[in-house]
Amino acid sequence: MRTPAPLPNGLRQAVGLHDFTTWKVGGPAAWFAEPADASALAGLLHWARESGQALHCIGAGSNLLIADAGLAGLTLCLRRLQGSRIDSGEGWVEAQAGEPIPTLARKAAKAGLSGLEWAVGIPGTVGGAAVMNAGAQGGCTAEWLHSVLVLDPSRPERDPFEISARELDFDYRHSRLQQEDLLVVSARFRLDPGHDPAEVSARTSANLHSRTSTQPYQQPSCGSVFRNPEPQKAGRLIEGLGLKGLRIGGAEVSPIHANFIVNTGTATADDIDHLIRAVQERVAASHAIQLHPEVKRLGFARPQPSA
Ligand SMILES: Cc1cc2nc3c(=O)[nH]c(=O)nc-3n(C[C@H](O)[C@H](O)[C@H](O)COP(=O)(O)OP(=O)(O)OC[C@H]3O[C@@H](n4cnc5c(N)ncnc54)[C@H](O)[C@@H]3O)c2cc1C
Repeated sequence: MRTPAPLPNGLRQAVGLHDFTTWKVGGPAAWFAEPADASALAGLLHWARESGQALHCIGAGSNLLIADAGLAGLTLCLRRLQGSRIDSGEGWVEAQAGEPIPTLARKAAKAGLSGLEWAVGIPGTVGGAAVMNAGAQGGCTAEWLHSVLVLDPSRPERDPFEISARELDFDYRHSRLQQEDLLVVSARFRLDPGHDPAEVSARTSANLHSRTSTQPYQQPSCGSVFRNPEPQKAGRLIEGLGLKGLRIGGAEVSPIHANFIVNTGTATADDIDHLIRAVQERVAASHAIQLHPEVKRLGFARPQPSA
């Protein structure tokens, strides 16, 4: 008989994932861990492979809808893998996957590096930003990312290897990493050096202010739910149909910004999922436009509503 693999430090069972998503919904992870360094991460990946556990990776959970039934296997939250190194002379910035992207934007600004001013209002991690090609206010990750270091969970004994930004097939809110089971452990950016730190910091703060004054930052959400069906804006289409304030259970189309669905306090993942479908159906019926969700769903038995 095969001896079960010993449990690594920090591994927990039946951990509610609502605490790890910005929508504040999601059932329990069968197994859960938040490794704080590379060796803890390697131990967890070995354990998952040896014990045949499915693997899910989350960053800050700010673009994730996790099912109420929760997730089988091991959920790894990488938000504790924090830290960065900045070369203000040459503009190189290297950050761990769990570093909050707004923190990195602030640090870069203080070092007189321009490039990440748009990132200050995006409540995700560096890893999540690379995977999603996060962007705002005219800027995006793909413009400034040089490369990522990744781990292949199916071969945890292999050292992390580099993938250049060119090879990541970046597109609007898309990268090749969304189709591959690789873990981003760190990222390198090449920013524009030699700027006045006060000016870069002022632009960064102005960007944050313009977002918090037009978007519902006080309520749990995942930011924009739908990709913009260019040249149209998803929010304008939804608002034009009078859907602001539409509710299913505790989920509501935000009265402040129609492309946000907020948790009014009692929402379940099912409520949110049903509201996403209801909005899609109304927009398709009125405009013959299929809205595609930007958010990623995990753990649902029914298929993604036209991702
Ligand atoms: C209030 C609010 C405003 C927002 N505004 C914007 C915006 O302006 N622009 C924008 O682009 N997004 C926005 N978002 C969405 C979200 O913040 C971004 O998509 C962000 O990049 C997600 O990062 P994350 O760390 O939270 O990733 P998660 O949501 O945890 O994960 C997203 C995906 O990336 C994968 N992933 C995460 N980390 C890793 C890793 N290290 N290795 C491999 N895979 C990984 C996950 O498996 C999942 O598929 C907003 C969200 C909120 C709540």
